[in-house]
Amino acid sequence: MTATIIDGKAFAAQVRGQVAGHVARLKEEHGVTPGLAVVLVGEDPASEVYVRSKGKQTVEAGMNSYEHKLPAGTAEADLLALIDRLNADPAVHGILVQLPLPGHLDSELVINRIDPAKDVDGFHISNVGLLGTGQKSMVPCTPLGCLMMLRTHHGSLSGLDAVVVGRSNIVGKPMAQLLLGDSCTVTIAHSRTKDLAAVCRRADILVAAVGRAEMIPGDWVKPGATVIDVGINRIERDGKTRLVGDVHYESCAKTAGAITPVPGGVGPMTIACLLANTLTACCRANNIPEPEGLTA
Ligand code: NDP
Repeated sequence: MTATIIDGKAFAAQVRGQVAGHVARLKEEHGVTPGLAVVLVGEDPASEVYVRSKGKQTVEAGMNSYEHKLPAGTAEADLLALIDRLNADPAVHGILVQLPLPGHLDSELVINRIDPAKDVDGFHISNVGLLGTGQKSMVPCTPLGCLMMLRTHHGSLSGLDAVVVGRSNIVGKPMAQLLLGDSCTVTIAHSRTKDLAAVCRRADILVAAVGRAEMIPGDWVKPGATVIDVGINRIERDGKTRLVGDVHYESCAKTAGAITPVPGGVGPMTIACLLANTLTACCRANNIPEPEGLTA
């Protein structure tokens, strides 16, 4: 068997197109332009790349992008004061604080200072609680992107066995909640799981969010299963730096029914979902019906 490749790049382009269409309509019919503020503290090169890319795609979707770059030594009180200003600014519908923050800043405190209605990363404790209780929330972008691809591929997910490997607050746990919300039978595996291979082999949907290059081999995958590879790992091979996922792509693609590649799978969907969340937040803030298919 050779798996169908779930093309996250094409999927993300489609989502961005949908978002741009809705943004144009919002401007025309309601005179509202969604605005996303991204806050970057310090000069982490990877974070700078992400922030640039987010800003570019925000503008391309017709939204306003506000970048706030603060020096690495910024005092916590100053960062919190900026968040307070953004919370109060009606032109800003989404606020994202790029993680990781420098060590002297308390990420939890900072994230929980964001107005939950503007928390487009979905990391605020209120949004975590709303998602956990099946209420309308802002949903973390990476798992939301995975859910969209799964829904499109499968139609209904109801009754499927899903295994999520990884229990982080930003990927594993919200992914499990979303799959549960779509009536999967969900198992969350982690570093203490006994016989991980056997657990993975039960999965109709296998989501890998571990951060270990090519950890899951093809013989851990149930024939015909859908494999969603969230991992982004940089490795050296044949004298070149390469990006690989948490699953061993070549062997898993032989067993799986469908698989997301790395790069070009989950990654591009994350920013597309950030734009979708900003649009959703803008609609909610203005009591405008939110577009279908762009939220959980
Ligand atoms: P974390 O490091 O926060 O969490 C990793 C999880 O994997 C933990 O729950 C850990 O278990 C589990 N784990 C580690 N080793 C093993 C093992 N040997 N067997 C089973 N489980 C294990 O990572 P993140 O969730 O933040 O990210 C995961 C991956 O996804 C990374 O590669 C990251 O780069 C990528 N990522 C990609 C994004 C995208 O846009 N595509 C966005 C965010 C992340 P335990 O809790 O027991 O320690």
